[in-house]
Amino acid sequence: MREKAYTQRFPDSKGYFGKFGGAFLPPQLIEQFEKIEQAYLTIGNSHDFIMKLRDIRKHFQGRPTPVYYAKRLTEHVGGARIYLKREDLNHTGAHKLNHCMGEALLASYLGKKKLIAETGAGQHGVALATAAAYFGLECEIHMGEVDIAKEHPNVIRMRTLGAKVVPVSFGQRTLKEAVDSAFEAYLKDPENSIYAIGSVVGPHPFPRMVRDFQSVVGIEAREQFQEMTGNLPDNLVACVGGGSNAMGLFSAFIDDPCEIYAVEPMGRGAKLGEHAASLTYGSEGVLHGFNSIMLKDDAGEPAAVYSIASGLDYPSVGPEHAYLSSIGRTKIATANDEETIRAFYMLSRFEGIIPALESAHAVAFAMRLAKEKPFESILVNLSGRGDKDIDFVTENYPPEAYM
Ligand SMILES: *Cc1c(COP(=O)(O)O)cnc(C)c1O
Repeated sequence: MREKAYTQRFPDSKGYFGKFGGAFLPPQLIEQFEKIEQAYLTIGNSHDFIMKLRDIRKHFQGRPTPVYYAKRLTEHVGGARIYLKREDLNHTGAHKLNHCMGEALLASYLGKKKLIAETGAGQHGVALATAAAYFGLECEIHMGEVDIAKEHPNVIRMRTLGAKVVPVSFGQRTLKEAVDSAFEAYLKDPENSIYAIGSVVGPHPFPRMVRDFQSVVGIEAREQFQEMTGNLPDNLVACVGGGSNAMGLFSAFIDDPCEIYAVEPMGRGAKLGEHAASLTYGSEGVLHGFNSIMLKDDAGEPAAVYSIASGLDYPSVGPEHAYLSSIGRTKIATANDEETIRAFYMLSRFEGIIPALESAHAVAFAMRLAKEKPFESILVNLSGRGDKDIDFVTENYPPEAYM
């Protein structure tokens, strides 16, 4: 008998990928998460739900997004053929809407009134606020005061879309406190609200649900790539923050003979605090309700991390990435700030595509890999567009310096 497809085999019924994953929850939330899981398994697999999500993807999000052969970049690098899965063309300019629309659709089936989430740089907040507007749901986004000041345009976007932005004024006033604050708000009314997690992280069933909603990226890309070239890609490359865009692409190819590279941000250097390369330097631990690989400080607490791309700035990684790298199915790669900025400008100038700084990490590594494997093909997930990063990049890394 043919073995079940990878996504049917993992995670197990308790949400484990090997020893990674699970649901480490306060007692008040155990029942709520079980309800969400049950709903996902029943409603999420119903004909009606699947048809609605397909309709949304096609008519609202603009899917399928294309696969594009980056000819001029390929010729300039002089190696493997580089292809891009254009998630930057998805509505709102990144892959995040793929899971936000799925989560919001499930919430509306469950009769929930409100979507709650945290946001760091505001990307998840904007995508969720978009989904909330589409479904006519309330939306409450918790955001540290430091981030609110830094990421003003996204705060304006969320408010324009009708979301309530809740400033978080305790602790470091950034992402970690925003998570705590959003969780508290959710605890107050778990019947009428849902905590919509922004990546393949958090307690079960979120790593699985978010992966499944993102898997449309890989399913489309696999078919498109074969139609374009007659073959499967030899190599897949994606950046990893929590890991949702990467799992979206990778999940369709796990059973295929493709090399898979997860690219982490090496930032300014290998010293703790200068990067956010969780899989490269981390160790096993539980954070935000799941067991995975994380970066810890001397006291064993989640370490302060840095990335030039705010979407990659997280001290842990989705449990499925921890598992796939532990069994050797994926390879962990890195790109530092300097390589990332160079890739940002190169893709802009050679292809007319300004990438998000997160995605530019994947492009940077792909350019290096292309030289090592000159006769192969590389499919990169271009997770988002770079409009949000242009001011920062041009002010700090002037274009003249990268001619
Ligand atoms: C948020 C974000 C990421 C990182 O999140 P993952 O869950 O690791 O995909 C990557 N790229 C873009 C454009 C983002 O907005």
